[in-house]
Amino acid sequence: MALTGLEIFKLLPKSNCKKCGKPTCLAFAMALAQKKAKLEECPEASEEAKSALAEASAPPISLVKFGTGDNEVHIGQETVMFRHEEKFYNPTVIAVSISDKLADDALKERIDAVNSLQFERVGTHLQVGAVAVINDSGSPDTFASAAGTVKKASPLAMILVSESPDALGAATAKVADVRPLLASAASDTAEAVAKIGKENNCPVVAQADSVEGLAELTGKIKAAGVEEIVLSLKARSLKDELYGLSRIRAAALKKTFRPLGYPTVSFVLDGNGEAQAAKGISLICKYSSIVVVESVERHAILPMLTAVMNIFTDPQKPVQVEAKVYRVGEPGSDSPILMTTNFSLTYYTVESDAEASRVPCYILVVDTEGTSVLTAYSGDKLNEKIVAEAMKKNEVDGLVRHHKLIIPGYVAVMSGKLEEETGWEIAVGPRESSMLPKYLQEVA
Ligand code: SF4
Repeated sequence: MALTGLEIFKLLPKSNCKKCGKPTCLAFAMALAQKKAKLEECPEASEEAKSALAEASAPPISLVKFGTGDNEVHIGQETVMFRHEEKFYNPTVIAVSISDKLADDALKERIDAVNSLQFERVGTHLQVGAVAVINDSGSPDTFASAAGTVKKASPLAMILVSESPDALGAATAKVADVRPLLASAASDTAEAVAKIGKENNCPVVAQADSVEGLAELTGKIKAAGVEEIVLSLKARSLKDELYGLSRIRAAALKKTFRPLGYPTVSFVLDGNGEAQAAKGISLICKYSSIVVVESVERHAILPMLTAVMNIFTDPQKPVQVEAKVYRVGEPGSDSPILMTTNFSLTYYTVESDAEASRVPCYILVVDTEGTSVLTAYSGDKLNEKIVAEAMKKNEVDGLVRHHKLIIPGYVAVMSGKLEEETGWEIAVGPRESSMLPKYLQEVA
């Protein structure tokens, strides 16, 4: 059970030294009880207190890692039911299945297809995070051989999926150094699979057909020495799975119910690519930490990655690009200079429309704390002084001979003052970025 603030307070030094950043030990104790502080932030806590407080300071949903190096995957450690309460931390991992029944050439082709599922979206690189090798053959040797081939041909983190402890054991022996996630341990295989996990330092998936069954199963796996556990609810329908995952999340966060305080994995292996994407996105919203799909169709994978990207951004912080001068093509001293804000969606829309014009140009990006043009203007984050300052800071004077700045049509109203402030000629560009190609071709 979690400790109350007062119970925690009794274990602290009570010196009010403020080294933790809180004014008193009591304030720190209250923050710790609410999961708003970490025990490590009190350098004065005794070893005795640390061990007594371990329970209170442990995250309500454990962190689980698998894979290695740059492709190590982190899941769990979430602290809220709803994104707007704070933010979600470790993005859902999209994993793609690979059957061990595929013949050599088909297996390699499939691995290449999975590796190539990479995208650029508003300046961010998106890709699937794991590959799930499925023991469709039922043979431990075939499974181990497929896992070995995947390890050689893909840098992605690996999930080994089999109901057979023998098959999991054989495959793990082949790829233990890349620290795969072992899926799954059921009630009758918990001890055997946990043993493989413990001996090879690999996390283990607990799979059951009810929330209560999962709570019981994690106890067995933990008792066998495995700390990193992932939950898989075998539900009859998507509705049941979403309901079950929501119950798990609520039990972990609201009741600090440790047997369910683990990240989750969902398998979406049926239906066409569109159906898998639709189910996958529902599960990303509530509350799968890993979604394993069968489709390698780009039009099915990109919407899921986009959903992850959107849901796991901090709602308090708009996605921003660096405020500076960007070059489109190879602009020279006669090229146009456009001005926009550092809200990333605004910037990348302007950049792609400027690119489409095939007119080399500069884009001066002004820091408006990640807000769009109109929002920034109405919040006084975009005015003649701020733009003039950005021009000075980025030395735009030295870039071109013409001293003419193109501003977005939506802020035409600031053109007069901006002209006075900078001494530059201010041209009012189109309101919509989509009109930029035509505009630039005409003014260039
Ligand atoms: S650092 Fe520790 S001892 Fe110092 S005020 Fe904070 S909780 Fe108290």
